[in-house]
Amino acid sequence: MRKNEVMALAAAIYDEDQLAELDHAIDFSTEKHKGQKRMSGEPYISHPLSVAYTLVSWGMDIDSVLAGVLHDTVEDTEVTLDEIENLFGRDVSFLVDGVTKVSKARAGMRDLDSYLPQTKDNLSKLLIAVSHDVRVIIIKLADRLHNLETLQHLPQDKQKKIARESLSVFAPMADRLGMGRVRMQIEELAFSYIDPVEFKRLKTLMKKRLGKSTRKLGAVRVEVEKELKKEKIDCEINGRVKSIYSLYKKLKKVNGNIDDIYDLMALRIIVPDNETCYRVLGILHSMYQPMIARIKDYIAVPKPNGYQSLHTTVITPNEQIVEFQIRTREMHEYAESGLAASFHYHEQKNSKNYTRKKSAVHLPAELQWITQMQEVASKLREGEEISQNQLNVDLFGDRIFVFSPKGDIYNLPEGALPLDFAYLVHSDVGKHSYSFRVNGNIHAFDKPLHNGDVVEVTTRKLSQPKKDWQELVTTTHARTKLRMQLRKLGVLQAVSGAAAIIRDKAMRKNKSKNQK
Ligand code: MN
Repeated sequence: MRKNEVMALAAAIYDEDQLAELDHAIDFSTEKHKGQKRMSGEPYISHPLSVAYTLVSWGMDIDSVLAGVLHDTVEDTEVTLDEIENLFGRDVSFLVDGVTKVSKARAGMRDLDSYLPQTKDNLSKLLIAVSHDVRVIIIKLADRLHNLETLQHLPQDKQKKIARESLSVFAPMADRLGMGRVRMQIEELAFSYIDPVEFKRLKTLMKKRLGKSTRKLGAVRVEVEKELKKEKIDCEINGRVKSIYSLYKKLKKVNGNIDDIYDLMALRIIVPDNETCYRVLGILHSMYQPMIARIKDYIAVPKPNGYQSLHTTVITPNEQIVEFQIRTREMHEYAESGLAASFHYHEQKNSKNYTRKKSAVHLPAELQWITQMQEVASKLREGEEISQNQLNVDLFGDRIFVFSPKGDIYNLPEGALPLDFAYLVHSDVGKHSYSFRVNGNIHAFDKPLHNGDVVEVTTRKLSQPKKDWQELVTTTHARTKLRMQLRKLGVLQAVSGAAAIIRDKAMRKNKSKNQK
């Protein structure tokens, strides 16, 4: 990667002042990395330039791109954060600092092998902790992507370690941010190093299969296109091929039989708005027989990472099974780029300020913290005074984020107890809670959870909620569910609010009588 390639791509997106800054940052970084080489033998600067190029192509704001150019200077050269702040502003130095912290923490984990699977949780925790600005994670993903692309130059044991870490930490991280395309790129690259033999076998298998079905699918596509045109529906239809890694995962679920996988290839229909998505679904179901169990409405109920689409699998008259994914342009953009898509900035006339494009896709509750981060970040960009301290307090002051062992994030109020977590996962999990482990250690019911904890609930079918659990929950959600269950069990009387108050008063009276 060369400077002029980055500048050429950037020229279409940023204004003159910003391009001048980018030019300056590249020259500065080139000078500082002078003499250093990548394992490939290329000059080191080719790496930060590649990272910057990726960030530009994702449409990130200029500060992220500058941080991408400078991301290894503090760690690998004598450049200090102060210097970066003086030259490129506080926002950029803040981002570089975050990225550096993530790499440092990684370097601290020397023997990655003995660290797995804990590494996953530690790193996820760490990423959340240092990434008060979600852009740090996005820059880190661009960095990791380029390192994976140039992995062939590293010794084999290192290749495997980095590949495994990418699969267990960075791919899920991309997924959480809704960055589907990046997640897939990371998974494909990492998997090809972790199990090269299986990767090749599946690739060949896929090729054979696709050759057969591509023609048949083409016919279905033409048929659908014709029908939608007749209904005057404006649409774009594309084929999407399953990735090798997701084929590998699916094959494991269906005992290795590729005939049981219906979505090796799917047709994606992109339409202007939500209503049209449902209309198209109706039309498809009138043309072909749907497989009822495989209809999924991710528009009404988005996936936790914000993904939206309608999915359906149909059987054509010549017994071909075809999956369709129906979505709007905005949903498509979000499915591919996720959070990065919301960083596209549009220039305002005669102004240096940039406004964020209003995203049509809403973030689910689980990802609200990201919006919060973005808002603070955008305030910073607009030059508003926000101290680092304030940042911490604002974002994490009264909410904590804990993980399930699978790595799902749950948002709870500070001081939340294990049962609050269990009821948040599912009311049945709460109901049958038997014991808790936090970060691998047994954890008492009355001990609060902390930010970044990995919480594991052991349930027993026979374990039932107890009356004194009411003292062991802090959230309204958990309390409501618990009381309902206690009433069902007859442990708690079904009383109206007023009756409860009268009873409480009577109890207190009795108590004071007894004390006299
Ligand atoms: Mn790097």
